[in-house]
Amino acid sequence: MSASATSRKPRRKALAVRVGPLTIGGRSPVSVQSMTKTRTDDVRATVRQIRRLERAGCELVRLAVPDAAAAVALPEIRKRVALPLIADIHFDHRLALAAIRVGFDKVRINPGNIGATWKIREVIKAAAGSGAAIRVGVNAGSIDKSILRRYGRPSVPAMVAGMARCLEPFERAGFKALVLSAKTTDVRETIAVYRELSKRWPYPLHLGLTEAGPPFEGAIRSAAALSVLLLEGIGDTIRISLTGDPVQEIEAGYELLGALGIRRRGPLVYSCPTCGRTGIDVIGLTRKVKAALSDLRTVPMRGQLPPVKVAVMGCVVNGPGEAREADFGIAGGKGRGIVFAHGRVVKTCAEDQLVDALVGEVRRTSE
Ligand code: SF4
Repeated sequence: MSASATSRKPRRKALAVRVGPLTIGGRSPVSVQSMTKTRTDDVRATVRQIRRLERAGCELVRLAVPDAAAAVALPEIRKRVALPLIADIHFDHRLALAAIRVGFDKVRINPGNIGATWKIREVIKAAAGSGAAIRVGVNAGSIDKSILRRYGRPSVPAMVAGMARCLEPFERAGFKALVLSAKTTDVRETIAVYRELSKRWPYPLHLGLTEAGPPFEGAIRSAAALSVLLLEGIGDTIRISLTGDPVQEIEAGYELLGALGIRRRGPLVYSCPTCGRTGIDVIGLTRKVKAALSDLRTVPMRGQLPPVKVAVMGCVVNGPGEAREADFGIAGGKGRGIVFAHGRVVKTCAEDQLVDALVGEVRRTSE
């Protein structure tokens, strides 16, 4: 890393909040989470999707509980899943009580739409009794009307005031197992509002954009906002919301944490953009290398330990030089290629053997 590279500020010290076997905040690594997109009352499909998320490295998963039918499915889902589970509740506090009763580890509520304070107090009491955490989520679209009248629009100060209002019953009850989120679709407002939350409250923060968009757009927008915050040491758990397969949310989350040098899941794969010199199928090879290495386990970054970098380069002009910068790499020729490991050529082979040769090298020295 060059001397002028932007440094990462030390992580803000948030309270440690237990969510089942996982801790958010404290000294725990930034965790990566997602949300199921099946109907929650379809237990089979929901459990199958949770298992796929778990294999992808998801550390906690949230399920929408929109009605009584979904609530009825929760005990069976809880029984079949070991991953920490979060119930996402709007409007009806009884659904939150049902989720806590069957052992959900956390509920996400937006106090702004739950209604009377006694209902919030019931949720707090149930969570305190069972050791469940609560995420208090404030969204730009659901700020208390009296606050909106004061600020005119759902601006950053309005969201912070909305959060302060939402937290009153929790503070009165002395309930501290809280995770906070304040979501908007706007990148700069997201950065500004989380900076404020981080200064004002000691609770861990769940970072994310709301309605971020399709995978390509959503990942870019989320990375634009979250990378600024994470480099400032702000953020304890992240969700990259994408309109698509939730597994992509997990992949995007780790890719972002890996790019920032915070955490990685498996190696970072680099590839050249290809051009008129390309001698091998870089796009196909890159896809195969990624797939072949996708099962390498999640490794929290320790100190300055850099992630393993794997490069797929299309030609020998820049190829070997770039590949040598990486820990492992392929540089292609005409239907053939060279495999590098830690700056040395370890093999020259036909294109159809390159992936196996590269992956073999990575596994031999990385696992
Ligand atoms: S590595 Fe070679 S093939 Fe790839 S973009 Fe650079 S010059 Fe083109």
